[in-house]
Amino acid sequence: MKEIGILYSLKNLIFQDVKSENETKRTAVILRLLTVIMWGYYLILLAMFVLQGGTLLFEASIPCGLLYFLAFYWTYQDRTKMSLALANAVTLGWVVVIVYVLGWGSGVQHFLFVLMMLVFLTSHLATKWKAAYAVSLCFMRLFLYLYTLNHKPIYRMGETVSILFQFLNTITICSIIIATMYLYSKDSMEMEKKLMLYNDKLQRIASIDPLTGLGNRRNILEYLEKSAEDYRKGSIANLSVALGDIDFFKKINDRYGHECGDIVLKRLAVLMERKLEGKALAGRWGGEEFLLVLPGFNGDEATSFISELMFDIRKMVIEYGEEQVKLTMTFGVTEYDFRKGTDETIKEADRKLYLGKESGRNRIVF
Ligand code: GH3
Ligand code: MG
Ligand code: MG
Repeated sequence: MKEIGILYSLKNLIFQDVKSENETKRTAVILRLLTVIMWGYYLILLAMFVLQGGTLLFEASIPCGLLYFLAFYWTYQDRTKMSLALANAVTLGWVVVIVYVLGWGSGVQHFLFVLMMLVFLTSHLATKWKAAYAVSLCFMRLFLYLYTLNHKPIYRMGETVSILFQFLNTITICSIIIATMYLYSKDSMEMEKKLMLYNDKLQRIASIDPLTGLGNRRNILEYLEKSAEDYRKGSIANLSVALGDIDFFKKINDRYGHECGDIVLKRLAVLMERKLEGKALAGRWGGEEFLLVLPGFNGDEATSFISELMFDIRKMVIEYGEEQVKLTMTFGVTEYDFRKGTDETIKEADRKLYLGKESGRNRIVF
């Protein structure tokens, strides 16, 4: 249990967020993980030196481990960039010195790949500097290789130590790459998911009328365009639109107040949504006007459907305090066809709505 507690604390320590908003948490977390893995690496080297009597050079593990500790500490001090630079410098120094003393067979040169990956995943440098650094690392590796071709190692490791060192380098480098890539992919997938959710939310906000919850003008126009496209392709045989306006709505506002007017609009929206569900779509065209798009309905069918809706609207009683508010609406209905286009169809429905108002309201004009 105690071990689990320690692991849990270590995990919290590694994943602790950075204080400054200008620093990225990911860089700090990757650097901390790198440090913890490198401590393990240096500790094992030290143990090898003590137990196997390996090269004295392994004593260098102590200063390297300490410098890594400083890099680790800096990630909590909002000095992530310095920490990254130090981790790079220590690792580079380690590679150069070990290859120089123990030769190419030591296997430490592969740490250069780790640095290459780190610079791309963590640093804030411009891409051209990252690329320049990566190319320099590539040249350094080639240079070290050519150097070892012409120079014998200063110190020859015993066979056991040499094998152990190879194992240790391989396992350490693979652990760093796996841990970093895991973190990076997890991080970017989470970001992507967040972005997708945020996008959905934005889309919803951009297309919904906040008062009534119906689609706004943009949304209902999009739906009309889509339905017109279905009609042109022949997937629906008819398409109608209806433009409706509440009669004497100003009076409702004047008599009961604007808040009551809002409640009327909301209740009307709920009623329309229920009536239209799965058959047609209503959107708030503006103020107390609503555009209804009826795919599959010819003019006669639309007129009879809107009559039913008007019947329900007339029947509706909205309780507002002591008051009982009732309302009627006037509708202009038009059938869409190829020649008119959507703009002209809406204009025609608007003209018919105007005629309905002129001739006494509370009626449908088709
Ligand atoms: P008509 O029968 O000719 O359509 O008469 P009307 O009173 O309904 O039409 P008018 O255009 O004179 O007035 C519409 C009113 O609708 C005026 C405006 O204040 C009100 N209105 C528009 N949007 C809202 C809203 O979101 N909430 C409330 N409460 N009132 C609104
Ligand atoms: Mg009105
Ligand atoms: Mg109006």
